Amino acid sequence: MLDSLLRPRSVAVIGASRTPGTIGYETLHNLLLGGFTGAVYPVNPHADSIHSVRAYPSVSDLPEAPELAIVVVPKEFVAPIVEECGEAGVRGLVVITAGFKEVGGAGVERERELLALVRRYGMRMVGPNCMGLLNLAPAISLNGTFAPSTPPRGTIAFMSQSGAMGVTILDYAAEFGIGVSSFVSMGNKADVSSNDLLEYWREDPDVGVILMYLENFGNPRHFPLIARETTRKKPVIAVKAGRSRAGARAATSHTGALAAVDVATDALFAQCGVIRMDTVAGLFDAAMAFSSGPLPAGPHVAIVTNAGGPGIIIADACEATGLAVTPLSEESQARLRIGLPEEASVVNPVDMIASARADDYRTALEIVLGDPKVDAVIAAFVPPLGIDQVQITRAIRDVAAERTKPVMAVLMGREGLPQGMAELREARIPAYIFPESAARALAATYRYRRWLDRPAGELVSFEVDTEKAGELLSAARLAGHEMVPLDIALEVLDSYGIPVAAYRVVKTLDEAVMAAGELGYPVVLKAILPALVHKTEQGGVAVDLETKEELDAAFERMQSDVGDPDGLPPRYLVQEMLPGGKEVIVGMSLEPNFGPLLMFGLGGIYVEAIGDIVFRAHPVSDVDASDMVRSVRGFRLLEGVRGEPGVDLHTLSEVIQRTSQLVGSHEEIVELDINPFLAFSDPDRCVAVDARIRLTRP
Ligand code: ADP
Ligand code: MG
Repeated sequence: MLDSLLRPRSVAVIGASRTPGTIGYETLHNLLLGGFTGAVYPVNPHADSIHSVRAYPSVSDLPEAPELAIVVVPKEFVAPIVEECGEAGVRGLVVITAGFKEVGGAGVERERELLALVRRYGMRMVGPNCMGLLNLAPAISLNGTFAPSTPPRGTIAFMSQSGAMGVTILDYAAEFGIGVSSFVSMGNKADVSSNDLLEYWREDPDVGVILMYLENFGNPRHFPLIARETTRKKPVIAVKAGRSRAGARAATSHTGALAAVDVATDALFAQCGVIRMDTVAGLFDAAMAFSSGPLPAGPHVAIVTNAGGPGIIIADACEATGLAVTPLSEESQARLRIGLPEEASVVNPVDMIASARADDYRTALEIVLGDPKVDAVIAAFVPPLGIDQVQITRAIRDVAAERTKPVMAVLMGREGLPQGMAELREARIPAYIFPESAARALAATYRYRRWLDRPAGELVSFEVDTEKAGELLSAARLAGHEMVPLDIALEVLDSYGIPVAAYRVVKTLDEAVMAAGELGYPVVLKAILPALVHKTEQGGVAVDLETKEELDAAFERMQSDVGDPDGLPPRYLVQEMLPGGKEVIVGMSLEPNFGPLLMFGLGGIYVEAIGDIVFRAHPVSDVDASDMVRSVRGFRLLEGVRGEPGVDLHTLSEVIQRTSQLVGSHEEIVELDINPFLAFSDPDRCVAVDARIRLTRP
């Protein structure tokens, strides 16, 4: 519970100062000016009073133990002060002071010490290295920041890992018409993390929308479950810095390289219903849309404009973000025709041309809002000569006030017509200067609607032989393998109920011929050498061997091509040949600071060239898995095209879920590829024919 931080009954400012412009002064100033409903205690050994309030030399001299202490003393004094707070019975701490983990070296140790004290006294702490917090609920009215401006009150809660970003959003909030409920600058997140705040705000009735500015995840293994539950109740919109790292890991030849941290973040957010925005501007745009009105029921947008160009730009922007601009119903078109000039266009966008007046806007907006084929409306206005702009924006506002569908405004022209813009935003009608802003904000609300409509999904726990898999993996590790030998990797899959092609392990040609006889021609011959990562390239795979003679020749060739670089007697796999399947890859890579990332894609040996891969964070639910299968660009190939039968999608989804369970239960696996898994329309024919498992170093 974070009540001691966000709903305290009393607050001490330790390091309060008499000098305006210092953090110690401005923080106290904001508390007093904000009308905090509890008691405020300045603490400063060298002042009798600060800001007309009696000051105390130390926490232990206070008439009561303050529930919350805001600490702004120099870094050397933080630990002793925090200890004193603990002794005095303080419950919550906001440590604004910097000079901890973020500076490295001695700072890391200083932070560890600080956290140990916080834990010892059972306190909760925001920071260090932060700019404070606020809760504008009338019963609290707590402004514990040193930010120069206080935002208007509203329903948005905002957590920021960057102090500067926090100040910016508080500054802009008023201008963007974004009303704030709570704000926490998390700083180094030594104790209170984004996960804690999500859980707290999920239950806070004053919070309607949660915004996050993140640089990294606190504990990504906990985030998915917490976030999933939160987004079922209220929208969570995030900007995660670090997109450009996407390409940082150069393409080598395994899953880990195909996956990048940023892709992982995208996957994680999408899976948890967190709406990711690319930019801070996008975050504001979306915040405005989310905090103001109904969500669109579907993707269909009607555009009402007084100029052709903006209508087209908005339509393009909508289509680019996954919304649809389709023709209005015949009836709406007929009704629009009446009263509009002949040059007007009524299909969608509805272009009423430059002569449109407030009444035309009113009528047109009402007609399109009444159209059952329309889920949301964007009203655009470019000021022509001789039209009273404020009348128009008021018409938009009045119609929007009655709405059950989202209505947005795009006011183009110089600075977006400040007066109209302000009036709309005050009436909580999202209003934008640029068409793209409106489109991406509306698209974000539609994405959230789709998330709410999506079945919650279940984390299926299959009955598997965990023990056997564990034994196989530890044996491989004991034998010094980082790469698990092919036959063992296939056995591990089998113990998790992932179907594998029939095979025999052989050492000699005679054994190979006998195995082929048992399996039936045609067969495939593969060299089993842990060091052999790409068998095909190194002459370690011979497919479609139809006769004993072909097997003979392949065996001879492989023996001389591949040799035995491990110094072990070479072993081979004779495998049944399954022609005609669709090759897919199912894989996992363990991302640092993130956890297991599952992948699914098309391609077999061409997977890197094709690059048609999707990612999800572990654990993968049944809904996530079937989503993965359906999200590859080449999904139609799996579904079946040109009269070809499709493959069994259910099996693919199950293999993904079983893989997720496997890597979740065996944390020594750092990388896993099933490539290819051969998919057929008959579920009984679907099998893995190749598998690579990399383990943590012994
Ligand atoms: P590697 O990926 O190490 O080169 P694979 O075992 O994946 O080796 O084999 C390479 C390719 O050979 C596969 O992508 C697939 O096209 C084909 N192949 C391998 N085994 C079989 C099999 N049992 N049946 C059909 N095709 C196979
Ligand atoms: Mg392969």
